[in-house]
Parts: sequence; C-alpha cells; structure tokens
Amino acid sequence: METPTPMLSVAEAQERMLAAMPILEAERVPLLEALGRALAEPAIAQEDHPPFDNSAMDGYALRSADVAGASEGRPVRLRVVEEIPAGVAPRKRIEPGTAARIMTGAMMPPGADAVVMVEQTRLEGDQVLVQTPVRAGENVRYRGENVRRGETVLEPGATLRPAELAMLAALNLPEVSVVRAPRVAVLSTGDELVPLGSPLEPGKIRDSNRFGLIGQVREAGAIPVDCGIVPDDRGAVERAVRRALQEADALVTSGGVSVGDYDVVREVLESLGELHFWRVAMKPGKPQAFGLIQGKPMFALPGNPVSSLVVFELFVRPCLRKMGGHRRWFRPQVRAVMEEPVQNDARGRTNFMRVFLRSEGGRFLARTTGPQGSGNLRSLVGADGLAVVAAQGVRVGEEVAVILLSETF
Ligand code: AMP
Ligand code: MG
Repeated sequence: METPTPMLSVAEAQERMLAAMPILEAERVPLLEALGRALAEPAIAQEDHPPFDNSAMDGYALRSADVAGASEGRPVRLRVVEEIPAGVAPRKRIEPGTAARIMTGAMMPPGADAVVMVEQTRLEGDQVLVQTPVRAGENVRYRGENVRRGETVLEPGATLRPAELAMLAALNLPEVSVVRAPRVAVLSTGDELVPLGSPLEPGKIRDSNRFGLIGQVREAGAIPVDCGIVPDDRGAVERAVRRALQEADALVTSGGVSVGDYDVVREVLESLGELHFWRVAMKPGKPQAFGLIQGKPMFALPGNPVSSLVVFELFVRPCLRKMGGHRRWFRPQVRAVMEEPVQNDARGRTNFMRVFLRSEGGRFLARTTGPQGSGNLRSLVGADGLAVVAAQGVRVGEEVAVILLSETF
C-alpha cells in the first residue's frame, strides 16, 4: 500500500517542482532560429539605433531659423540644392536660404536642423515654398536616440518574440545565445489504448492524450519526442522510461499513477529515481506523480483526458518554461464575472473549471463549457480558460480568477 502522504496545494506543488527544475545550457543560434527561445546572456547593442541622424518624414531638410516667419500667406522661398533618397549619403551642406529634398529614413545633411513635411510646401522649379515654421529638431530622428551602442537591451531570461528579433537585428546581432529548448518525451500507458486508425476492439479506446500532450509540449516552446503507447506492464514501462530519458531532458507520461492494480508508472518512477510527491489537492487530476530520474524530471500525469491536459497546463508547462531559461513561467490570469452558478463538488480541493469567456463593457464574463467530468475531453474544446474555484462554489455575478489557455481572444 502507498504511504498516505498529505495532499499538497497546487501552489506548493508548483513551487516544489519549479525548485527542482534544472535550467538547460545555452547554445548559439542564428537570430531567425531564436524565435520563442529565452536569451541566455544580456543582449548588448553593437551599434547605435538609429545609426545616423535621419528624417522622420518625406519633406525638405532645412535650417529652422530660415522659416521662422513662414505662413501659408507668406511662404519662405528656399533653393533646393539636392535630393537625398534613403540609403544615400548627402553631398551638400545646407547653407542659409537653401534646403534639400529628403525622404523618410534618409540621412540629414550637414547644416540642416529640421525637416518640413512635403504637405506643407509647394515646389516651383528649383525652389521650394515653405508655408509653416518648424522647430529645431522637428521630424529628425537622432543617432542613438533609441539605443546606444554598448547598452543592454534585453536581460537573460527574456523570451524572444518577433519584436525582440527585430530589435536584435537592428543592433547587428546575427547570432544569439539562447537556452536550449528542452526535449520532452511523451508516452501513453494503458492496455486499453489503441493508436488512431486501427480497429477499436471491445474495451479499447483511442490514445488521445499523446496528441494533446505533444501539442502542449510544442506550445510550451519545447521539442516533443513521441514515445508511443506502452502496456500496463512494469517491465515494459521501465524499459520505455529508460529509453525515453536517454534522448530527452524530461519525460511526460499519462495513465497508471493511481493505486489500481495496473498502475505501474508510479512504481517505476520510485524504483528508477526519486518520487517527490504524487498527490495534489486539485480537480481534475488528483493522482499524479513527479520525480527526478538521474536529474531529469519525470511528470507522471493521470490518464483521464481532461486531467492530463489540465495537470500539464498547471505544472509541466511552467517547469518546461523554466528549463528553457524563460524568466516568466505562468500563463496570465484575468478576473471574470461568473454568468452561471458553479458548485465545487471536490471537498478541500481546488477545482479548475473549463470556461468560455466573453468581454463586455471592459470586463470578462465566464460560463462553463458544459459538463465538467474529468473524462469529458469536450469540456476543454474551445475553452478560453480555467476558472479557479477554491471554495464551495461561485455565485452568479461573483468574480473568479481565470487562467487563460490561449493567446488569442
Ligand atoms: P489511469 O490513470 O491509467 O487509471 O486512466 C484513467 C482513465 O483515463 C481511464 O479511463 C483510461 O482509459 C483513460 N486513459 C488513460 N490513458 C489515456 C490516453 N492516453 N488517452 C485517452 N484516455 C486515456
Ligand atoms: Mg491506466
């Protein structure tokens, strides 16, 4: 019989797992391969951004003092001495009474201190009539005004999104040091499981968990390693776990962790490594185990389809984010007003109820996705989030925290 270990709260379990998580080593990759990865060292600007003073507008570069008295009725006439397209260095100096046609992003010519928009001018032959005064510095973007060479623009742990890639490109960093993406083995256990496409004999079910979990691994920025289906046989599970951990940094299994006669996964984890805990006060997903095998985390998730996906969200995902070097580990949460009453029938356990969200008048409204059984995979389909129902329940109009499950809304 199992030792009756006390149930941990979700927060305690998260804390313990995260504390045990190793952070993987860094590798240098071309910038374009770094999307979604976490920076391993500070990103230091190699160049000023922008690299030279340039025009923010299509217009005329001029000396602001020349046009101080300009208006529509009394425009100031300046001689246009050259045209400066983007990418070309100006050749002439702007002397009093002259201007240069200049394009957005083109280099400011010496002598000029401002740009007047083309819309506020009229061209007459080789002269431009300026119809408005401009302040010194107007429509000019100065060298280094965004970032100076040598400045740290991103700290280690920053997740590289498209904006960060663009910034690093602008600062001439063609390669970056990022933390290696964890390789995560995923395997399903259960004698009842059959792969997709094969006949469904009596008593058998489709192995759906593996598809959800592999998707979650990928969505967490890690690299899945598909280890297939393993029967409820201790030897077979042990061999599969050993093999999986040879090539992966972490292992996620589903099924076989409760106290049924066929639940051998926990036993294997205990014999190959150290079991850290296996009971968390949550619903869905009470029977679950976590441990380390030769320093590599193994997450033994429950077999019930909803439980496996929810437990992954709450525990495995943050752990994989930490392993991958990210500074932020958790999904965002919002407050939402319940549109229907919900009961927490799980005494003393936090219930993570699947909800649809809609936004109305600047706040979120939540309603459940339907029946919430832990075998009812449908309750997750299209769900926007997990409502955290800790007490007996939530009344209509009461607020509840909702963990967001997707990036779009
Ligand atoms: P277990 O945790 O092994 O006791 O399994 C609990 C429930 O989840 C049982 O109804 C299993 O048939 C089901 N189950 C286990 N593994 C999977 C899987 N990979 N895909 C779908 N259902 C599963
Ligand atoms: Mg089973």
